[in-house]
Amino acid sequence: MALNIKRPNGTEDVTPKNIYKWHTIEKIAKETAAGYGFKEIRIPTFENTELFQRSVGETTDVVQKEMYSVIAKETKFTLRPEGTAGTIRAMMQNGILNEAMPQKVYYILSCFRHERPQAGRLREFHQFGVEMAGSQLPSADADIILMANDIINNLGIKNVELKINSIGCPKCRAEYHKALKAFFEDKKDSLCETCHSRLEKNPMRILDCKSPVCSEIAQSAPLITDYLCPECREHFKKLKSYLDNLDIKYTVDPKIVRGLDYYTKTVFEFVSTDIGAQGTICGGGRYDGLIGQLGGQQTPALGFAMGLERLILTMENQGCRFEEDKNCMLYIAPMDESVTSFAMKLAKSLRDEGFWVEYDTVGRGLKSQMKYSDKLGAAFTMVLGDNEVNSGSAKLKNMKSGEEITISLDDTFIQKFSNIAVNEMFSEVFE
Ligand code: ATP
Ligand code: MG
Repeated sequence: MALNIKRPNGTEDVTPKNIYKWHTIEKIAKETAAGYGFKEIRIPTFENTELFQRSVGETTDVVQKEMYSVIAKETKFTLRPEGTAGTIRAMMQNGILNEAMPQKVYYILSCFRHERPQAGRLREFHQFGVEMAGSQLPSADADIILMANDIINNLGIKNVELKINSIGCPKCRAEYHKALKAFFEDKKDSLCETCHSRLEKNPMRILDCKSPVCSEIAQSAPLITDYLCPECREHFKKLKSYLDNLDIKYTVDPKIVRGLDYYTKTVFEFVSTDIGAQGTICGGGRYDGLIGQLGGQQTPALGFAMGLERLILTMENQGCRFEEDKNCMLYIAPMDESVTSFAMKLAKSLRDEGFWVEYDTVGRGLKSQMKYSDKLGAAFTMVLGDNEVNSGSAKLKNMKSGEEITISLDDTFIQKFSNIAVNEMFSEVFE
């Protein structure tokens, strides 16, 4: 019977065959973040809708068109469309922001946005993200850009461009908004419907509009970098000098405004040139106003998020190395049921040592057990019958070389097998 219920559009299954790719990325990202003093935080999959309205922003695409919301028992909840809002909410609620600054956390989580599914754009996707609260200095901006850069390098990803910009603080933004309004006002009739209301409420959002006509018009719009106040200008200058000093290549792209409203000052993106139109593998920036906006004490903060599906796509396209899952080390083939208990004990003793060991649990005959062992790619097999159990020794066969040795099934077994297995692993590495 065929299953006629399929997974929803824009979602993906990760099967056991592919999970090693995810493990590779998660491990490298976690290890790199740990070196920068970041600890993991886990937050709920859904939050009160108001949290996203107030942080991501009422005039953003995410809030206006892309959120998955439900009313459950009269309360409105939304599946998180991104990780920052929930993380900051959790840091506030758990008193983390009252501790010694800076506070640094990372997360790996799924996000939900109702977008048009295509390569690198899903409705449920995954992010590795970090947030750092409590520093207003540009050295913090440099630190997290450096960390993102490290993760990308440690994954072996090449051909990535770092784009940075400063979108200023509310002070300089007010001036800039005026300039943008003046610029777009007489081109109003050509703008899309949504941009009409953006012009009133949040003209900077027009710069992020995906409609070809709007983005064409936006090409010649005034640039935020010309409207930065002295403090924001100095912050940006200092950040650039830190990046220069670290020898991190970047381009200043005054067109980057990012899709979420909470950003201030520094914003940045890492863009891969190898995975087509959805090339942004990492996006982030500073959001000094957000914590205050959510009712906390004004605390500067910043962060970034990487799209894990896009990282995997890039790594696949570039032939980057993923860490393979461990191999089956031993397949024990009991000749009949009478020795199954013995095989089980033997397997357990080796599993306790960290080896992947299998024995028959489906009642195959000896010949088809051997075929199955081959399929598993077991490094060694051992046939067990009454003879072996009674005599206390069995033949261990190296499946690659075909070589067989006799091994005692007594107290020395675990140590001997471990030595042989480790030798085999090394010989594979050096092949
Ligand atoms: P884009 O401009 O590509 O839509 P964004 O600005 O909406 O990205 P952010 O909200 O900054 O993205 O999220 C950070 C990262 O998450 C992105 O750089 C991207 O790698 C990934 N990402 C965002 N939306 C999706 C999606 N729908 N499917 C897969 N990955 C996504
Ligand atoms: Mg988007």
